[in-house]
Amino acid sequence: MENLWNENDCKDSDTLSCCAYGSRLLGSDRSLVLHGGGNTSVKADWQDVTGEVVAALYVKGSGWDLASIEVPGFTPLPISRMQELLRLDKLSDEDMMAELSTARLRPDAPQPSVETLLHAFLPYRAVQHSHADVILSLTNVEEGEETVREVYGDSVVVVPYVMPGFDLAQLVQEAWSDQAHSGTTGMVLLHHGLFTFAETTREAYSRHSDLISQAEGFLAQLPEKNRSEKELSGKAEVTLTALASLRKKISDVAGSPMILSRQTNSEIQSFVNRSDIDDLSNRGPLTPDHIIRTKRTPLVGRDVDQYAQEYTDYFERNNQRSENDLTMLDPAPRVILDQEFGLITIGATGKDADIASDIYKQTIPVLERLEDQRSGYVALGEEDLFDLEYWDLEQAKLRLAGPRKEFAGQVALVTGAASGIGHACASELLKRGASVIGIDINPETETIFSGPEWLGNVVDVSDEDAQIAAIRRGVERFGGVDMLVAGAGVFPSTELISELSIESWEKAMDINVTSVARLFHHLAPLFALAPAGGKVVVIASRNALAPGKGAAAYSTSKSALTQLSRVAALEWAEHGVRVNVVHPDNVFDTGLWTEEVLTERAAKYNMTVDEYKARNLLKMEVSAQHVASAVVELCSNRFGATTGAQIPIDGGNERTI
Ligand code: ZN
Repeated sequence: MENLWNENDCKDSDTLSCCAYGSRLLGSDRSLVLHGGGNTSVKADWQDVTGEVVAALYVKGSGWDLASIEVPGFTPLPISRMQELLRLDKLSDEDMMAELSTARLRPDAPQPSVETLLHAFLPYRAVQHSHADVILSLTNVEEGEETVREVYGDSVVVVPYVMPGFDLAQLVQEAWSDQAHSGTTGMVLLHHGLFTFAETTREAYSRHSDLISQAEGFLAQLPEKNRSEKELSGKAEVTLTALASLRKKISDVAGSPMILSRQTNSEIQSFVNRSDIDDLSNRGPLTPDHIIRTKRTPLVGRDVDQYAQEYTDYFERNNQRSENDLTMLDPAPRVILDQEFGLITIGATGKDADIASDIYKQTIPVLERLEDQRSGYVALGEEDLFDLEYWDLEQAKLRLAGPRKEFAGQVALVTGAASGIGHACASELLKRGASVIGIDINPETETIFSGPEWLGNVVDVSDEDAQIAAIRRGVERFGGVDMLVAGAGVFPSTELISELSIESWEKAMDINVTSVARLFHHLAPLFALAPAGGKVVVIASRNALAPGKGAAAYSTSKSALTQLSRVAALEWAEHGVRVNVVHPDNVFDTGLWTEEVLTERAAKYNMTVDEYKARNLLKMEVSAQHVASAVVELCSNRFGATTGAQIPIDGGNERTI
């Protein structure tokens, strides 16, 4: 582990901002800290409103990630109160969290970490804690404790596994009084992680780096046992409907739509093809913290029902010994290992699937190393793992993400997503929790939105192969396609029929109708597998109902598009897929309608620009957002009984009413 501390980045005088800096260094190394794992603290003065100085512990608060933590992410607590709590013989988790919450010196500070008392106890100013995978590589074997001793001698305190919280703080106090001395530089928690401490964050970080490097050195010199390598194929192309069917099954078992994300590479393929994959992968997670993201075991293969049954049995077995009557979490897996698919991770959102993926990709090399180079991978027992999985303080980490959004777990494909109505629809879908595959000819499409729920593709909709490739990318990323908003379209230049050029006619038909027919054709089998029912909304036009002179190609193409959608509504109803059409009039809040074009058009009708924009019965300007709100609403359950409908979004027009 490289020591990345840079003197210029941190003034030693300000201990809290230095602690935040050191925390970010630790958090930026994904082999040390993943998704909310790990925490840090510093002991420093707090000056209260009367000017009195209180000795305080500033500890990482919940909801902050070490990789991006700032000063406000640390919660100040009076050390004297922490010491009083440490002297208790017994303290329940609920009471401990209530006490920590009450003791905050700043009421708007985040909830302090469940490992707060441990930080308060350690008799050093600065403390750093990680779940480093190399430490787990030392400890997750039968002879874990001996190995830690072999690597570190007596320079670290070794603590057996116990659930984080008050019990762990107590166990650490005992271990400390037995083992600590002036040369102690760290503390290894078996099956959990590493603590280092010193008088400055800089030194605590440097000790972390030294101890991790020592572990890396030890692991690097282990000989590789002989393992028969299988001949591996590259990234196999799988049938999209096979992936989508698996997603449907998982979603049914989970009770709500889920995102499935598939990854393969040679390491993953080699892992899933191991002859001992069933046994090795089913022993449990690297560190109990991972369980809320990955569940205790992955599903090996595709028998979702059997997995759900085994999960239910595991729950019932362990619920019997629990004091409270617990409610079972959904029994669907979060990780699937399959010889053909590779690694599939699952979550209510793309983000959750990514977190499970990050954790499992970190897990694979550790499992293989311990199995192939050491005495064999050993995880914690089922009871310890269950207790952590169903520990309210652990589940609270998931609740920080907020309630499940309306379209969470559902996947929409939006064409024309980089501008105008398509862009507004994609934005509204993302806001309401959908994962969105965007298609547009605009070269910026990939980055027009950001975040894990967006997958932008630069595609000309008239290019069928490019469309198919984008669908494949989308299904590999999210597991299926449930909704389509067909927003891409062209308005060819105004031409009377007597002057009509066949090129512009064909272009209008190709982009406005044929490309949608092709999309329908390729997406139909996926819609039929949508866990919450397929939904299609087609952006047609007021012109389909009220054509205009000089717009033969456009009006005809939008009419044909409407008719195509009506046939789809008829054909797909038996699969629960709803198809509806909206007919917007011009929306002016797009790049096409520059001030210049508007002025010219308005002049043609002898109107001011404002009059021109509002030439409808309601005398209002129709915006892309009006259209997007209606489109996304049509995808919602509130329109669950509507298919084959055509809705004008034009401010009211005498010719269409
Ligand atoms: Zn921890």
